[in-house]
Parts: sequence; structure tokens; C-alpha cells
Amino acid sequence: MIERILIATGLTLCAGLAPAETVFTGETVQGARVISQLDVADLAAGEMHRFMFRGAETAAGQYWYVPVIVAKGAKPGKRILFAAGVHGDELNPIAAVQATFASLDPKQMSGTAIALIGPSRDGVENTTRTWSINQLGGEQVNPNRTWPGREHGNTVERHSWLITHKLIRGNVDIGIDHHTGGTGIETEFVVKGLNKLNELIFEKINRIDGVLRTETSLFLNYVKRQYDWGTAVE
Ligand SMILES: [Zn+2]
Repeated sequence: MIERILIATGLTLCAGLAPAETVFTGETVQGARVISQLDVADLAAGEMHRFMFRGAETAAGQYWYVPVIVAKGAKPGKRILFAAGVHGDELNPIAAVQATFASLDPKQMSGTAIALIGPSRDGVENTTRTWSINQLGGEQVNPNRTWPGREHGNTVERHSWLITHKLIRGNVDIGIDHHTGGTGIETEFVVKGLNKLNELIFEKINRIDGVLRTETSLFLNYVKRQYDWGTAVE
């Protein structure tokens, strides 16, 4: 499993633009006050603040809520975003960010740390990399390919737009978007022919204790994938 941390490759920070104000909807979800817009300048310094950010509307006309923690330091300073769970099957980053915030004491801090916990609500719910939507007969959307989102796009695009414009915009100087290996193990075997393939799958792999099922696919042509499209820190 490959562990990697990408530094804000996808999230748009829009640091120079000031948000209007923190907007409370009047609701609470599991004891946390619901916000539809954040301005960290409004919040009391030297304290930890917990919210539910109201994201996109669900198909039933309700909302997806994203847990947000703001550790606002007693003294002013840089504002850092810790995002985890943009891919819903990447669980370790969520635990890492929660542990980081459990270790913070805003009274001793300069600057502000903001945690965005599992913004891909459908992905977290189903432990999947993608978010399932019903438009156009159903589609699996990779949330990390939707930044900065579209106001009137599909559910995932709108959710990303709301996070970009109502939560991140004007509140963040630098962001760390945490990723890791997801569910599933990819293992490569090389066999000499179909008989050997059958033997491998049915006589060996299927008999391993704990294997519930196997899938096979046939590559007619294999082109090595390139990973030079922008994950490097510049
Ligand atoms: Zn990821």
C-alpha cells in the first residue's frame, strides 16, 4: 500500500478573497451547529470550534453535512486547512487529522487550523473512492476531479463548489489534502496460458482462507501509466 500526502493539488484556496461572515442556519446536527458559510475571523480566538458545514442538497431535498473543526489560536498567524476523506475509502487520513486536532491547544497557538473531515459524504458512507449520483442514469464521480466545483453542476460538483466558495475561500493560506491507499489490494501474477490461469484462480487463489470471490480481466494491450501530471510538490 502506497502512503502519500498531496499538498493542495486539487483544492483552490482563493486566499486573497474575504468571505462575508459565518452564517448559522439555526440547525444542529448531532450537537454541532450547522453553518452554510465560514469566516474564521468571526470566531473567538484561543478556542476549538466544531461545526457541520451544509453541503449540496441530496436527491430527497435534504443536505449532506461535513464535519468541520476550527482550532483558532490565541494569537494571529497563518491559516492552514487539513482536508481528509476527499476519497471516501481512504480512512487513515481521517484518523490522522482527528488525532492532530486532538493534540492542538488553541490557547498556545498562533494562527488557525481548519479540519475538513470526509467531504465526500457518499464515499465515506459506502467506503468508496467515488460518489454515486443518479443523474443521467447513474454515474460514479471522483470528487477529487471536481475542484473547484460548479455552482449549478451535478451534486458532487455543487458540493465541491460550496466547499470552495463558502468554506475555504478567504479562510485558508495553505492546505494539506491527505490521501492514502484505498480499499482493495492489487496483485499482479504472470501465467503462461489459460490453463495455468484457471489453475491459479480455482486451485490456488480461491482456496485461500478468507477469499470470498475472484474477478478476472484480460488486457489486450498494456501501456504503462504515467504519473507526471502534477502530484509533485513545486
Ligand atoms: Zn485519494
